[in-house]
Amino acid sequence: SSSGQAGHSFRRKPVIIIVVGMAGSGKTTFLHRLVCHAQASRICGYVLNLDPAVMTLPYGANIDIRDTVKYKEVMKQFNLGPNGGILTSLNLFATKFDEVIQVIENRADQLDYVLVDTPGQIEIFTWSASGAIITEAFASTFPTVVAYVVDTPRSSSPVTFMSNMLYACSILYKTRLPLVLAFNKTDVAQHQFALEWMEDFEAFQAAMRSDDSYMSTFAQSLSLVLDEFYKNLRSVGVSAVSGAGMDAFFKAIEASAEEYMETY
Ligand code: GDP
Ligand code: MG
Repeated sequence: SSSGQAGHSFRRKPVIIIVVGMAGSGKTTFLHRLVCHAQASRICGYVLNLDPAVMTLPYGANIDIRDTVKYKEVMKQFNLGPNGGILTSLNLFATKFDEVIQVIENRADQLDYVLVDTPGQIEIFTWSASGAIITEAFASTFPTVVAYVVDTPRSSSPVTFMSNMLYACSILYKTRLPLVLAFNKTDVAQHQFALEWMEDFEAFQAAMRSDDSYMSTFAQSLSLVLDEFYKNLRSVGVSAVSGAGMDAFFKAIEASAEEYMETY
């Protein structure tokens, strides 16, 4: 692989895609779809599963946290509930993350993308020290992009949509990495409404006013913040089930990786 341009200590490849999103948004299913698409397009993908609590995975993970950390035993040993168990498992794994980076570096010549699946509950990865350590380890070595998966049918009310976008916004400012919004489940509901709300502030305001849970001036102020946020990201409609939008997604990832190379 080519090393980065002068001043960059990281390589151009592989591009790391960290897949985050609310529980049930379809991260794991989407990742499976990305793996299938990569295989069919002769793109070389490598998959890292960071969800210690998942029972079965639809894809074959190249590196799996479950091989190193036994989530159920962690729960017993430290007397923890499910979320504490996932968080502690992630902490234990993060302490050895330099080994993961090394494995990927050794294979860097053959890899185009590394797809990273994260635990179901979003904040376990996005608001934990270990999530930050893992993200930082990637971002200091390879071009790294965050893919935020949105459950499109469940975001069709303006207030829910705004909450979801505020969460995505917080991730952008916390990681400072290029962000791609993947509006998933477009086989159930098209994401056209979302694009409209993101492009046209007035349209979103009008939708807000017709919402029963409208919070008036507060919501108005928040949507002004979001207007600025939307300028800093790319969004695509996808369906993990039908496979729609995969080429558009990889294009958005490529553009984001370029942005990373220019910025960092
Ligand atoms: P995760 O918790 O974010 O990893 O979500 P999963 O991948 O486990 O998916 C949660 C649920 O959403 C499952 O029942 C999936 O079958 C469903 N799902 C995921 N992607 C899609 C999609 O594109 N379309 C539809 N209709 N369902 C989906
Ligand atoms: Mg999952």
